[in-house]
Amino acid sequence: MDPVRVRFAPSPTGALHIGGLRTALYNYLLARQTGGQFILRIEDTDQKRYVPGAEGYIQEALEWSGLQADESPTSGGPHGPYRQSERRELYQSHIDMLLENKQAYYAFDTPEELEAAREAANGTFKYDAATRGKMRNSMSLSASEVEKLRADGVPSVVRLLVEPGQSVHIKDVVRGDVTFSTDELDDKVLMKADGLPTYHLANVVDDHDMQITHVIRGEEWLSSTAHHVLLYQAFGWESDMPVFAHLPLILKPTGKGKLSKRDGQKLGIPVFPLSWESEKAEERLEGFRERGFHPQALLNFLAFLGWNPGTEQEIFSLEGLVKAFSLEQVGKSGARFDFDKAQWFNQQYISEQAAEELVPHIKSALSPLADHETEDRLLQMAELYKSRIRTYPEFRDKLLYLFETPTGYDEKTIRKKWKPSVAAVFQELIDAYRNQNDWSPDAIKAATMAFMEKHELGFGNVLPHLRNGIAGTGNGPGAFDMLSLLGQSESVSRLETAIKAWNSNT
Ligand code: GLU
Repeated sequence: MDPVRVRFAPSPTGALHIGGLRTALYNYLLARQTGGQFILRIEDTDQKRYVPGAEGYIQEALEWSGLQADESPTSGGPHGPYRQSERRELYQSHIDMLLENKQAYYAFDTPEELEAAREAANGTFKYDAATRGKMRNSMSLSASEVEKLRADGVPSVVRLLVEPGQSVHIKDVVRGDVTFSTDELDDKVLMKADGLPTYHLANVVDDHDMQITHVIRGEEWLSSTAHHVLLYQAFGWESDMPVFAHLPLILKPTGKGKLSKRDGQKLGIPVFPLSWESEKAEERLEGFRERGFHPQALLNFLAFLGWNPGTEQEIFSLEGLVKAFSLEQVGKSGARFDFDKAQWFNQQYISEQAAEELVPHIKSALSPLADHETEDRLLQMAELYKSRIRTYPEFRDKLLYLFETPTGYDEKTIRKKWKPSVAAVFQELIDAYRNQNDWSPDAIKAATMAFMEKHELGFGNVLPHLRNGIAGTGNGPGAFDMLSLLGQSESVSRLETAIKAWNSNT
């Protein structure tokens, strides 16, 4: 495939939804695979919806996930600026072109007039060939009237002149061929009264100016694409029209309906890459990063929301995804957002991480308790537990016993396994532990095996009690490693306390 030029074009209207990050990922993958460019363009022409901090959020999310843009507002590039609010002149000159060629026209209707028209049509009003003659615009008014209104500074918008009775064809790699009739389309506003372009105009002008070859975006933009195609035609750019690919919806965990911001809050699952606190302090959205996800695991999970490699393989590094990805393998039907699956991916990544990389996560999960731990002990903790957690904060739950005496025991282990035959002799094992000179896992194992042989006990009769006695849990990693890490005197004292409690209970 020839090198592509693709863009991720978010609007800074709030935190970047997880679906947005998936769009960025697919664009990135295609760019890297073909040796092309991945461009970040900020679509900030809608002043009403602009949210301070949102652009910074988008950049941070891309940086954290490792999707670096080749051209962007911060890194610049040959087609900049990459923020639409800084490209007004370009849009103005293109609007002038359309007006000149009679493919667009001025409209002076006030919000009240538009509202009245909507009401008269019972909410089905469409500004189009059938209605524009009754409205106040440069199609219905005389040239001198228009000139006067303009000279008087009466606010106006510019609308696209859509000719009725024509079909618009969209070739979409994901959806196949899609046809719209211009009868369904309205005369979209291209330039607002504030002199800023609407999404439609700015998007098309920029895609053309930035030599975008493939437009990969969410399905919600498919219906806008008909207008975009009309704009390409109006500008005479049909031959440079990009390839379109509209990505399937991301569905709620139930599979019913589109995944929304509210689903995340309702279900207590993150649907944003990073946490976000909005001006309205009550809104705090949870992020995958803060929930303890490895960015690669998140990308791996997202890659599969809409795409699959056609094989059984599930774990892909970013480079692996770059090689395997293809738009042809992107499906049409919505992809269900399954948080358990996301955690499963994360677990795979964490278990493969080097202990050194996990140390900061242990420290932060156990802050301030682990602040003064030696690096050596932190590394041991990481090794011991890295295959047992799904997200980093779970380190806290797993390792807390090393810092605080557990407040209870696993009742099931006591009930099912604290048999009289074990209870009768367990003190002997504790005494052997007390007398050990060497508190390495191997030495503890040797002492334990000697005890087990003497009393004809198996691992299953002994190890659950060791874990339960020191950590209050019936299972976990190697019991000897746990004991060694906790230290000799603390282990002995906790086991003493434990057997007293268990024996008085039975
Ligand atoms: N600004 C649009 C958004 O917020 C971009 C859609 C597109 O990629 O054309 O998603």
